[in-house]
Amino acid sequence: MQPNLFQEPEDAVTISERGFAEIVFDRPLDHAYSYAVPPALRDAIGVGKRVLAPFGRGDRQTIGFCVGVSNSKPERKVKAIVQVLDDEALLTEHILKLTRWMADYYLCGWGQVLNAVVPAGVKKLAGTRPTPMLELVPEALLPNPLPHLSPKQKRVLEYLQTHENPLELRVVTEQTGCGAAPIEALVDKGYARRRAGRVATETTISQPVLAGRASDGNAADPSLARPANTALQLTPDQAAAWAVLEPALTDGGFRPFLLHGITGSGKTELYLRAIEEVVRQGKEALVLVPEISLTPQLEARFRTAFPQARIAPLHSGLEDVARTAGWILAARGEVDIVLGTRLAVLTPLPRLALVVVDEEHDASFKQQEGLRYSGRDAAVYKAKLADCPVVLGTATPSLETWHNARQGRYEILSMPQRASPGAVLPAVRAVDLRASPAQDGLSADLVQAIRARRARGEQSLVFINRRGYAPVLACEACGWAAGCARCSARLVLHQKEGRLRCHHCGAEHPVPRACSTCGNVDLRAVGRGTQRVEETLASLFPDASIVRIDRDTARRRSDLTLALEEARAGRGDILVGTQLLAKGHDCPHLTLVGVLNADGALLSTDYRAAERLFATLMQVAGRAGRREQRGEVLVQTMYPQHALYAALARHDFASFAASQLDERRSAGFPPFVSEAALRAEAPRLEDTMRFLAGARELVAAPVGVQVYDPVPHVVTRRAGYERAQLVVQSASRAALLGFLREWSEQLFATAPRAIRWHLDVDPIGSD
Ligand code: ADP
Ligand code: ZN
Ligand code: ZN
Repeated sequence: MQPNLFQEPEDAVTISERGFAEIVFDRPLDHAYSYAVPPALRDAIGVGKRVLAPFGRGDRQTIGFCVGVSNSKPERKVKAIVQVLDDEALLTEHILKLTRWMADYYLCGWGQVLNAVVPAGVKKLAGTRPTPMLELVPEALLPNPLPHLSPKQKRVLEYLQTHENPLELRVVTEQTGCGAAPIEALVDKGYARRRAGRVATETTISQPVLAGRASDGNAADPSLARPANTALQLTPDQAAAWAVLEPALTDGGFRPFLLHGITGSGKTELYLRAIEEVVRQGKEALVLVPEISLTPQLEARFRTAFPQARIAPLHSGLEDVARTAGWILAARGEVDIVLGTRLAVLTPLPRLALVVVDEEHDASFKQQEGLRYSGRDAAVYKAKLADCPVVLGTATPSLETWHNARQGRYEILSMPQRASPGAVLPAVRAVDLRASPAQDGLSADLVQAIRARRARGEQSLVFINRRGYAPVLACEACGWAAGCARCSARLVLHQKEGRLRCHHCGAEHPVPRACSTCGNVDLRAVGRGTQRVEETLASLFPDASIVRIDRDTARRRSDLTLALEEARAGRGDILVGTQLLAKGHDCPHLTLVGVLNADGALLSTDYRAAERLFATLMQVAGRAGRREQRGEVLVQTMYPQHALYAALARHDFASFAASQLDERRSAGFPPFVSEAALRAEAPRLEDTMRFLAGARELVAAPVGVQVYDPVPHVVTRRAGYERAQLVVQSASRAALLGFLREWSEQLFATAPRAIRWHLDVDPIGSD
């Protein structure tokens, strides 16, 4: 039995009128193809279902999605659909519109987007697969005289005669206990014949994934309110924001909000209120977070807040079954809250009434491979389709969002104060490395500050955004440094594991005993990463417990979640970690944050580096002193006067953003222009560059669209491929998209197969 997935999208066309269908295939080019629907398939065909149709070279039977049915005869002669694969539509009207927008905006095939959107498990569940079948030859066609049969052949024949034909070959062999030989013989002797057939894929949702109430319609339900004791008295900031948000939720209608609240201002508390309101109305809320590691914490908070609500977590770390089940239940309207990472934006939610994007500035909302979309931007569009409010929450808005808000496109809800009684923002200070040089990476000021925390039994955190022991292993005698053979990058020394690792392609080698050029055995680790800082701290504070948290200590997500939980509970006197530690975790005992190696971003060629650094530092700073004790943040730097550090010390996002936006405006960068990048890679750089140079000439750029020169990536070679890109900009988004559409068609038509390339719309930098 096929599950009843959901209602078919509204379809004004009656069955007898369903003579033609528009089909899209999983191909990069964005065309829908017209097909005739044979009369036998007219009651089965429907928008949102998959079909099998002859397509491409040799008219291979190919799976496509039906995106339209009509009775208007196409001008050209068309082929006919062979089969309708799904009993129920897999896609709601909203998802069709959202994916249509994604295909337009990100220049990819609609069919490609659809294929990416529907989880594999859902396709399996709703679909059929080809299988060889066997059936009896009609009596009139039986040979005369009838050939003699062996006992086994007789057994198979009897089975065929007593069961409904055709039968799946696999079933016949299983049920009769005979192998392939007697079946072959029956076919040879003219008793039976083979046939191609399809059977339903049998997959069932075997695992209950949703806690909370049973499915019982979608009426408004007062029991979904939060237990009274969990709701807090709102702070003045929260109350002011709520006074705007509440009527927006009651009235409905598309309204984008920027919830600009410092860390600890109580944004989550406000999300909970908003969700409560929506769920009480019998509607649905979608909450997106940047990191999978943030979902368990938030999910736990949601479950406590709404013990009765049906919450579906959706992210790529889930088992296929759970993800499939969550998706289907959401699509059926049997979920109150979907909580997930960017891909959750693609979940069908028929009664969606609120979208929340937490930490909206986070780069992980942008998918960096395959379908390169922004989950945040798609979330805003989804809210627009659902005609409901969307809340973008963050302490450090992305400059795009900030600009939108300043232009009046988003309403700003501002929460500049911390929520917990007595909690104040940490004191941020730049430690001048020129005045007091660091020893083994740690300045005397920082060491002193950690010592004071140790004496008071408080936690310290040392933040350095580089894992491993040292970024370079070098020979002082001849200047050789260990590099990756496949990348234009140095190998990072991982001392504990005794390995050299490439952080770009993952290549690994044992640590060499001697210089491969001159044979010198005295190799030196230059610079430092988390491992080395951990080692230094251990020698400075021999009786402290030091906990390192980075991608190496937390290879699996569950490790990370556990480590963060333990840190939160007070484990570790000194925490050392990368930005994994920076994100949204509230550590009540933590009162000191030291930041090493921040300056790199100030010198970066990437114009977004400063924005990212500021956001990260605000976030790590937010870890310090979330409760009564005032926190302190020490940033070690060679540029203590830098405007970024000065703004950070004042906790002044607005002035930092204003100066960044000024620079962007005068330099002609987003958000003042729209941008796309054509990226390419090939084994030889000259091929990559020639391709990009040729691409530039393919289509004349219209007035107002600038196509820049191709430029190699900073790390040009990665995993044996030489990479480069060229950037296209325009002050007019429409002009840019128009150009890109024409360009991508030409690129698909002409690009040599040996070149790997893609277009990235609204790129956020490359490594
Ligand atoms: P954010 O998400 O903005 O960083 P949270 O929602 O996590 O902030 O809140 C930070 C802390 O403040 C939490 O410990 C939370 O329980 C507390 N808090 C939030 N709202 C209130 C309130 N109205 N009164 C008292 N404490 C609050
Ligand atoms: Zn050497
Ligand atoms: Zn490499």
